[in-house]
Amino acid sequence: MKASLSLLDNAQANLARALTLLGREIPADWATKLRTPKERTELRLSPQLRDGRIHTFRAYIVKHNDALGPCKGGIRMSPTVTLDDVTALAMEMTWKCALIGVPFGGGKAGIVADPAQLTADDKQILIRSFTRTAHRHIHPLVYVPAPDMGTNETDMGYIKDAISYSLGYATTQGSYVTGKPVILGGIPGRREATGRGVALAVVEVLRRHGHNLAGAQIIVQGFGNVGSVAARALVDAGGVVVGVSDAHTAFYDARGLPLDDLLRHAAQHGSLKGCRAAPPIAHARLLEKPCDVLVPAATGNQITGANAPRIKARLIAEGANGPTTPEADRILQRRGVEVIPDILCNAGGVFVSYLEYTQETQAEQMTEQEVIYRLEQRMRDRCALVYETARERRWSPRDAAMYCAVKNVWRALQARGALP
Ligand code: NAD
Repeated sequence: MKASLSLLDNAQANLARALTLLGREIPADWATKLRTPKERTELRLSPQLRDGRIHTFRAYIVKHNDALGPCKGGIRMSPTVTLDDVTALAMEMTWKCALIGVPFGGGKAGIVADPAQLTADDKQILIRSFTRTAHRHIHPLVYVPAPDMGTNETDMGYIKDAISYSLGYATTQGSYVTGKPVILGGIPGRREATGRGVALAVVEVLRRHGHNLAGAQIIVQGFGNVGSVAARALVDAGGVVVGVSDAHTAFYDARGLPLDDLLRHAAQHGSLKGCRAAPPIAHARLLEKPCDVLVPAATGNQITGANAPRIKARLIAEGANGPTTPEADRILQRRGVEVIPDILCNAGGVFVSYLEYTQETQAEQMTEQEVIYRLEQRMRDRCALVYETARERRWSPRDAAMYCAVKNVWRALQARGALP
């Protein structure tokens, strides 16, 4: 028996559970098709970095399922990312796109490198090297990347530039990548979309239970794009952030943290490292501190069988992908801690990526107000779908979300037919 479950084990376990809930609706041979990624590719990148030497990096692209449309999913840059992690994340993207109702399949990419150890120049070279090597996989009708952990909108701008340059055009026809700078065809509000979506999901779920965010104590793990924007949006909606962490440091103060100072420090220094604005706390203890809403917005497998019994939050909003293991899920459910599942909670990003995709395809421009309005409508609508399904069938929100998502992909597969 393995000491700990991987992201892929967790993703497979979540799918297995959904398939059980779907029962005889999906025959076994089709279930195997749903489980198995369509394509897993390992690439070798060997750019010459600014030190004049050739450096070799591994990268992965996984297309899990494209029954609903071109594969969509971010590029993770991390020294520890594996092909199996990318497979798990691609699979989660298949369900997320199907649940949030955009015509995309699930894909993901990974670059095995530590962004914190690269200069801005070297990171640009690496991103361009990835784009050149992965060019045949990236296309508006095949796989459309976006930012994920360790990559950002600047990197997406370089990807667009590298592709249009290699095609010999000033721009690309159609959307090869989303999450770009607005000036290069990006959409206003994309960078904030995932974090805003997390806050919208929290507000909507509390509303459905007859509560609101006023004075609610919030802990956010991860202070990058998703975590910092979610913290801001949750405070704007009336909550009080009492704990935050990033990879370097963690802070907790039951009276509330000076969020503006933390945001300013992170914007200036790229992380919370060296920040003295609040009382520090050991990383491992932060998730277990008392709060009303816990937002894991860092990485996978953070809430496990080991710490789930000690989590004091009443609601967990999964900003990160796969932060809760299936074992932790069972423990939390027994303890009455509600989890807004990742494929719903953090789907605001891919929804606004879809708006960017359509905007670029049609050479239109949307305002941030339009984007926020459409994001709000979609998050509310999909929360209603998941929570009504959960209520009717007496399932957890995760089971309900997976049921609706997998069923949609299955319907698309059926509509396409099985031949040849
Ligand atoms: P990011 O790189 O901008 O930020 C990640 C943050 O997590 C950083 O502050 C980092 O220091 C912190 N971190 C890493 N390990 C940590 C640990 N062990 N404890 C505490 N903090 C830790 O990444 P992001 O784009 O904000 O993505 C965060 C999560 O949200 C990932 O799981 C990602 O897959 C998921 N997600 C992102 C998007 C998006 O649009 N960016 C969309 C959906 C889901």
